[in-house]
Amino acid sequence: MIISENIVLKNFPKELINLKKIALNLWWSWNPRARELFKSIDPFLWDEMDENPIALINSLNENDLNNLLNNKKFMKEYKLVSALFEDYLNTSKIYTDENTLPVAYFCAEFGLHHSLPIYSGGLGFLAGDILKEASDMNIPFVGVGFMYSNGYVKQVIGSDGWQKAENQTINRDIAPIERVLDENGNHLIIQVPFIDPAVYVSVWKVNVGKVELYLLDTDIEQNSPWDRGISSKLYTPDMQQRLRQEIVLGIGGYAVLEKLGIKYSILHLNEGHPAFALFERIRYFIKSGMSKEDAIKKVKETSVFTTHTPLAAATDIYSFEMVGNYFNDYIKELNMDKNEFFSFGINPDDPHGFNMTILAMNLADNINAVSKKHKTTTENIWKSFLEKTGKKIDFVTNGVHVPTWINNELYYKYDEMIGNWIEIQDFEESFDVIDDIENEFLWNMHQKYKEEMIDYINEKVRKKWEEGVDPLVLVAEGALLSSDVLTVTFARRMTSYKRPDLIFRDLERLYSIIHNPKRPIQLIFAGKAHPADNPGKQIIQRIFKICEDPRSKGRIAFIEDYNEEIAKHLIRGSDIWLNTPKIPLEASGTSGMKASINATLHLSTLDGWWPEGYNGKNGFVIGGETSDDEKDAQSIYENLEKIAKLYYERDDVNYPVEFINMQKEALKTITPKFSARRMMKDYLNKFYLPISTKLRRENGQNQKTKK
Ligand SMILES: *Cc1c(COP(=O)(O)O)cnc(C)c1O
Repeated sequence: MIISENIVLKNFPKELINLKKIALNLWWSWNPRARELFKSIDPFLWDEMDENPIALINSLNENDLNNLLNNKKFMKEYKLVSALFEDYLNTSKIYTDENTLPVAYFCAEFGLHHSLPIYSGGLGFLAGDILKEASDMNIPFVGVGFMYSNGYVKQVIGSDGWQKAENQTINRDIAPIERVLDENGNHLIIQVPFIDPAVYVSVWKVNVGKVELYLLDTDIEQNSPWDRGISSKLYTPDMQQRLRQEIVLGIGGYAVLEKLGIKYSILHLNEGHPAFALFERIRYFIKSGMSKEDAIKKVKETSVFTTHTPLAAATDIYSFEMVGNYFNDYIKELNMDKNEFFSFGINPDDPHGFNMTILAMNLADNINAVSKKHKTTTENIWKSFLEKTGKKIDFVTNGVHVPTWINNELYYKYDEMIGNWIEIQDFEESFDVIDDIENEFLWNMHQKYKEEMIDYINEKVRKKWEEGVDPLVLVAEGALLSSDVLTVTFARRMTSYKRPDLIFRDLERLYSIIHNPKRPIQLIFAGKAHPADNPGKQIIQRIFKICEDPRSKGRIAFIEDYNEEIAKHLIRGSDIWLNTPKIPLEASGTSGMKASINATLHLSTLDGWWPEGYNGKNGFVIGGETSDDEKDAQSIYENLEKIAKLYYERDDVNYPVEFINMQKEALKTITPKFSARRMMKDYLNKFYLPISTKLRRENGQNQKTKK
C-alpha cells in the first residue's frame, strides 16, 4: 500500500474529517454539490480563496469549526456529500469491458484545477480530463507528470499593450497534493536511472477521483542547483535542460511506478515529451529475460502514442551528440549500438537530429491523431516515415470532461429531466429531452452566466483601479462591457496561426457592424503569448491598442492572464465563441466544445474538431475548406451581421427564438459527441481493449505451455 500525507491539513475535528478528505480529492471540483458545500462555509471567503477548499479550510479557526458543527443545515449537506463521495469511490460499475488491463498515462502537463497550475494550455486540460473520465468510468489508470516549482507564466499587460511575463511560484501549502512516503515515513526520493552525475526526484500524489497522479519533483536538496531546475518550469527553452526534463519524465517516471509497485500493461504517452519511457520499458523487458527483439516487439504492441502536432517543426529534436552524452551506458543495457539506438529517432525527411515524435511512433504501434482532420494532417507531415515503416495513424477526436465544464444549472436540469445522465452522456438520444426545455429557462440561465461573467470582469477591473492603474487600461480590460449586448469571445493562446486579429482586417467595416445602434456587438479577447513568441506578443499589443481606441467605445476588451477560472466564466457567459485557426493548423481544439455544451455557439473555420461537430444548425462556419485571410475576414463580417439579426430578433416575451433553437441544437448534438466519455470509449475500443485481449490470450497460452 502506498502511504501519503498532506502536511498542511493535519489536525481536524473527527466529525468533519471528510471535509479534509474531500478537499484532498479533486472529485469535489466536478461535483456541484461538493463545490456548493465548500462555498456554503463562507461564500465571501470562497471567492477570496479563488475557490480553493484547502486554502478555505486552512483559514478556519477553532471557533469557525465549532460553528460548522453546530450548523444543522450545513451538517446535513456535509453528510450527504460525504455519502456521495463514499459512493463514488466504492462503485466499480464497468462501462465497457472488465477485461481492460491497467493503463499508465504519461504527460508533461496536467490541467486539473487552478489550485494546481502545472499546465500551460490545451494539452494539459486534455490530459486532466482523461484522468477524470478514467476515474468516472472505473478504468484502471495511473498518471505520471511533473510537480513544477513554477506555474506557467502570469501575464501582465501594460498600457502600451505589451505582454510582460511574471514568474509564479506554485504555493504547495494550498495545492491538492500529498507527499508519497517511504518505509521510514520520509518523503520518498528516487534516483533517476543512468543519469550521471545522479539526479533524484521526490514523489507527490494527486487524487483525481479514483485515479492517482504521481508527480516528479527535482527541486530537492539532494540535487545540484542545475539539477534542481529540471522541474522548475514547463517546457524550459534551454534545449539541454529540456532534454534532461524529458529523460527524467520518461525514465524517472517509469522508475517511480516500478518503485511503488504499480502494475500496468499498457503505456499511453500523451505527446512526444515522455517518449524515453519506451526505451526504459524495453530495458525492463530485457532485464526480465526477454530477447531484445521480443522486448521491442512487446513494447510496440502495448504502447499507445497520441500526437497533437500539426507541424513537423513543432516537435522536440535534439542533436545526436547531446542525446549520446546521456545514453552512452544506457545503450549497452539495451544490447544496441549507437546507430541502432539513434535509428529510432530519425525522421527520413530530416535525418540530422533525434526526433521525439518519430521515437514515439517507432516504438508504439498504436498511434492516434486528435481529430479526423488531424489524422490527414499527421499522415501528410510524416509521409516518408509512414511509407518507410508501413505504420498507420488512427484518430480519437478529443472530448471534454462534461461534469467539469458544464454549468450548475444545466447539470441540475439534466438531473431533473434525464435522471442519471452522466451514465448515458455519450448517447445522442439521451439529450432528446432538450427540445422540451422551456425558452424561459434556457434564456434566463444564459443571461445569468453572462451577468456573472461581466461582474467577474468588473471586479478584476475594480481591483486594478484601487491599485492605481491607468483608467485607459481599465476600459481596455472590460470596464464598459454590458450584459445586454451580443458578446463574441476569442480566448486561447495568442499566436499567429490562430489569427486572433483577423477580425480587425477591415476595422471600419467591423466598427460599422458592432456599432449598429439597434444591434450592437461587443468583443472579448483573452490569451497569453508564449514568452518566446514575439509575433504573438505583437498581436496582443495590436488588439490591446484597439481596445484602448475611443472608436471602439469600450466594446472591445482584453482580459488579462487567461486561465481555467477565466475560461469557465467566458465559455458560459459569452454568446458566440470565435475560432479562426489557419487550416489545418488546429489539431483539434477543445474550448469550442466547452462553450457549446454551455449553449455558447461556435463560430469557427472548418479546422480541428469542427468539421465533425458542425451540422448546419448548431453553430456557424467561417470561410471554406482552405484558409484565405481576406475571404475569411469577409466571412466573419457576414456571419456577425447574420448572428446579430438572429440575436436581436425577439418574440413577444423578448426571447430570440431562432437563436435559442440553435443553442438547444448545440447542447443536444455536441454534448454527447464531444464528451470525454465518448473519447475514452474510443480509446478503449481502438486501443486498450484490443491490446488487453491480445495480452490475455498470450498469457493464457504461456500458462498452458508451462503446464
Ligand atoms: C480548454 C482550455 C484550453 C484549450 O483550448 P483550445 O480551444 O484548444 O485553444 C486552453 N486554456 C484553457 C484555460 C482551457 O480551459
